[in-house]
Amino acid sequence: MINDKKTVKDKIFKEWLYQKYVIEDLYGYEIANKIKVSRQTVFNWLKKYGISSRKKGQILDKHHNWNGGISKRNQTLYFMQPYHPHNYRGYVSISNLIAEKILNRFLKDKEMVHHINFSPMDNKNHNLLICNRSYHKWLHWKIKKLGLVEYFKSLQIAKILQSAVESE
Ligand SMILES: [Zn+2]
Repeated sequence: MINDKKTVKDKIFKEWLYQKYVIEDLYGYEIANKIKVSRQTVFNWLKKYGISSRKKGQILDKHHNWNGGISKRNQTLYFMQPYHPHNYRGYVSISNLIAEKILNRFLKDKEMVHHINFSPMDNKNHNLLICNRSYHKWLHWKIKKLGLVEYFKSLQIAKILQSAVESE
């Protein structure tokens, strides 16, 4: 019980520290002043919690279009999730987050999300197919081999699903 409490406290403190140092972009000494500890203590905490020290502003990578925690790379939207177990440099793709919400668990290493209409920006539930990596690879290969890429790109999946529901 005591250990649980400590873990929760630790987590809350880590999030607070992350908020101040990375999101609000405060200097170590500014955080130290706020809670009346030494600068060194703050740097020890940053190290302990794996929040890398940096020059001011450095963590918020400028070419990632900083936009309140949303970043866009290779036509894919990412959301800032520094404590997500599978984050990449603090970010997780929005399609993965949606898939995990649907599954109500984290994706396994072998699992990934395919965008049925080949648009990685279209993260509506019906456009997402959760599959394992080898199936995903096969699927892309097969669709290409059958010359169906353009067909899938033109699909309006919402409408297809709607008509399927109506015909039931
Ligand atoms: Zn895919």
